[in-house]
Amino acid sequence: MDRVTCFCRMPKCRNAVIMKPTRRLWGLVVAIAVGIAACVTTPYTNRSQLVLLSESEEMALGVAAYKEVLSQSEVTAGRPLDVVERVGQRIARVADKPAYQWQFTVIDDAKTANAFALPGGKVAVYTGLFPIAKDEAGLAAVMGHEVAHALARHGAERMSQGMVLQLGAVGLSAAMGGKDPALANAVMSAYGLGAQVGVALPFNRSQESEADRIGMILMAKAGYDPEAALHLWERMGESESGGRPPEYLSTHPSATTRQEQIRGWLPEARGYLVKDPQLTVAALPAIK
Ligand SMILES: [Zn+2]
Repeated sequence: MDRVTCFCRMPKCRNAVIMKPTRRLWGLVVAIAVGIAACVTTPYTNRSQLVLLSESEEMALGVAAYKEVLSQSEVTAGRPLDVVERVGQRIARVADKPAYQWQFTVIDDAKTANAFALPGGKVAVYTGLFPIAKDEAGLAAVMGHEVAHALARHGAERMSQGMVLQLGAVGLSAAMGGKDPALANAVMSAYGLGAQVGVALPFNRSQESEADRIGMILMAKAGYDPEAALHLWERMGESESGGRPPEYLSTHPSATTRQEQIRGWLPEARGYLVKDPQLTVAALPAIK
């Protein structure tokens, strides 16, 4: 089986937005950024964010990217989809974001233990994640995490950071005009590594941790014991024990770090728990 990475690394997408800003635009964007950054905060964690896209722009990008990814994937119907939709919609309901058209899809790929969220509430889960999620409570932890990414506008935040970096690179290029070209190229290529703009960028560690924390609150509000998130990451840790691709280390907290953080957030999440006697937590369908 392919190595498990993280259940929310975004798939590669050709819908990346490439900005070609001028220096005049740079000034404008910085001015806008200062104004907008002051009034955008994440739900539950109240962190100030730099978000330069409107929600409608962000949602349009999410819809286009989702369509693109699904057109290249084998989408599954039937029982796996029923479970994912039921649990996902339950979490989406308590996320209380009526502007989003929440959509949940199952991608038939037993070798990929992954899931992703795109802006505007577009979520997909690969069947390879089912054995690690194990039951509906484990799946609720996954869905809570993914819904949290969309709700906290992490994609738009990453795109905004990329836009600022891109604008910074334009300024750097102008400043280095006429200087040593070898040095200029070296600096630009180093700078360019962090200056990609688009929905294909992976989330960073602090966004991952924030999605874990908000996700636990959402699953609790939807009736699931947030301790299931801890057990999910214990299983994820066991499945990763053979080693991980290096990119995981740079962009995601380790499974052990996640478990420690999740333990610390359990009392907060349990404060939101809404018990539902009707809620059943069945094992997920077996995947061949
Ligand atoms: Zn994530």
